[in-house]
Amino acid sequence: MVNAQERFTERLRLHMTASGQRLAELSIPELLNGTGTRFVQGWVTAVDAAAKTVRIDDDQVLHYDTLVYALGSVADTSAVPGGEDHAYTLSSAQDAELLADRLGRLGSGTVVVGGSGLTGIESAAEIAERHPELNVVLLGRAEPGAAMNSKAKAYLHAALDRLGVQVRSRVEVVKVLPDTVELAGGESIAADAVLWTSGTRVSPLAAAAGLAVDERGRIVTDAALRSVDPSRGVRDRRRGRDPPGLRRHARHLPGRHADRGARRAVD
Ligand SMILES: Cc1cc2nc3c(=O)[nH]c(=O)nc-3n(C[C@H](O)[C@H](O)[C@H](O)COP(=O)(O)OP(=O)(O)OC[C@H]3O[C@@H](n4cnc5c(N)ncnc54)[C@H](O)[C@@H]3O)c2cc1C
Repeated sequence: MVNAQERFTERLRLHMTASGQRLAELSIPELLNGTGTRFVQGWVTAVDAAAKTVRIDDDQVLHYDTLVYALGSVADTSAVPGGEDHAYTLSSAQDAELLADRLGRLGSGTVVVGGSGLTGIESAAEIAERHPELNVVLLGRAEPGAAMNSKAKAYLHAALDRLGVQVRSRVEVVKVLPDTVELAGGESIAADAVLWTSGTRVSPLAAAAGLAVDERGRIVTDAALRSVDPSRGVRDRRRGRDPPGLRRHARHLPGRHADRGARRAVD
């Protein structure tokens, strides 16, 4: 197993990190103890699907018979001008810690959360709960919980209301500036910190390796999450039809599904 850090990042808890909470320290080498899996810490810089090699930190080459490609995704801050330079993200533990540091030093002010999907909702609620001294504004095209049934939606809105989160739906963010978010139509919202949660993008490695990818660089797979190329792609990087129920379940158990996918591929 190759991963950038020894520490396992529980991405689905990074909104907790961002609000100043400490998560359990989970060491990947320790988790792998007794499994016979060798851990290599490093950054994958290239995949050569024809030669069946992975290059790590540009100086180490690993050969494989089967590649499990599970590099995840990061927040797509490129979707809005200024997002890359001025918005915080929850792409990595380091990113979440940067926001936690900023929020911890603010004292008062406004935090704008861009994106009213589940990550935006969780983040806005967590920040508002942990930092009652801050105004939290949740911006999005859709109202939070748009896909939920009316009872769940009412519960969600009551919770956001109780926490003091200001919800602005049906708005389009067109620019992020160092201290302001600009909306379509000309309105500006002053922001001491902007968290961007809308949309994801994937690493260019798969496309660079010549694997079949879609217009967003995600590996094209069959129904068993196998790349249509000789390598194998799983989880956030893949496109194609999932076996029934897999995607929903896999969001909670990415490692287990990567493992299942690998076993299926090897079998
Ligand atoms: C705040 C937040 C809340 C969420 N809440 C939920 C939830 O409640 N329920 C749910 O199901 N999902 C939730 N999600 C989504 C969930 O976290 C992701 O779907 C899941 O983490 C994807 O797992 P993965 O293993 O595919 O990728 P990741 O968890 O992103 O893991 C990819 C790993 O690959 C490493 N890596 C990437 N590129 C390289 C490289 N070139 N070289 C070496 N290593 C590399 C990364 O460092 C990382 O360790 C949430 C996400 C966020 C951000």
